Amino acid sequence: MSRPDSHSAAPPRRAFFTQAGAGVALLALAPGVRLVELALARSDDEPVTSANRWGLLIDTDKCQSGCTECVSACNEEHGIVGHGRPETDAQWIRKVDLKDDQTGHELSIPVLCQHCEEPPCVDVCPTGASFRRDDGIVLVDKHICIGCRYCMMACPFQARSFIHEDLSGQLTHAPRGKGVVESCTLCVHRIDKGEQPACVEACHKEGHHALVFGDLKDSDSELATLNSTVATRELRPELALKTSVRYTSF
Ligand code: SF4
Ligand code: SF4
Repeated sequence: MSRPDSHSAAPPRRAFFTQAGAGVALLALAPGVRLVELALARSDDEPVTSANRWGLLIDTDKCQSGCTECVSACNEEHGIVGHGRPETDAQWIRKVDLKDDQTGHELSIPVLCQHCEEPPCVDVCPTGASFRRDDGIVLVDKHICIGCRYCMMACPFQARSFIHEDLSGQLTHAPRGKGVVESCTLCVHRIDKGEQPACVEACHKEGHHALVFGDLKDSDSELATLNSTVATRELRPELALKTSVRYTSF
């Protein structure tokens, strides 16, 4: 496969880590919103446990070149608006085009946080702001993120974004703030209510059914069944990160 190029509707990823060094985060979340509370428990009577492991399977044959419904749905769900700076604008999910130089075979796939079981972003975080829930969802506690961006350097998938701008019009279920790092939450606020992630819902609504969400530990789930019957792969398997997001073989 040739080097991936970002899809035309999803601007090229930023120059990586151009402003090194720690800075003090100036964070303005919506009043009364504590992301860590959102992250640590589904509800008072249903705590997050390792009985579940949430994941995604992306069918690379069904994902359509030119379609960015998943990207638009994610942006809308989390109030992510571009500032005309494609190199640094926040992007939790992006479409990437791949082409096999030898066969000419082309693919268009979404790339997002892979929710690694062995997440390098968590390993390098000096404050514990990057963490993995017991059910496998990798999150950032924005109250203790100091904006050092070590996690952005450690992530092999360029899945994380740093917020450079003052933000307004924040959504209660998706608190965001200038000076901290963020990435795909797997729509944790939806999962905790028993709903599908916004990108999955949008893909199905469009009739493509390229994204399958579910519980990897539930052997009766569509996701677990597909993972055991269809050839799938992780991105960068040589890193052995045991990602919760997998792709049908390509
Ligand atoms: Fe962390 Fe990147 Fe893995 Fe997501 S894909 S868990 S941000 S290392
Ligand atoms: Fe965005 Fe939710 Fe999809 Fe993650 S699961 S890419 S947060 S829409």
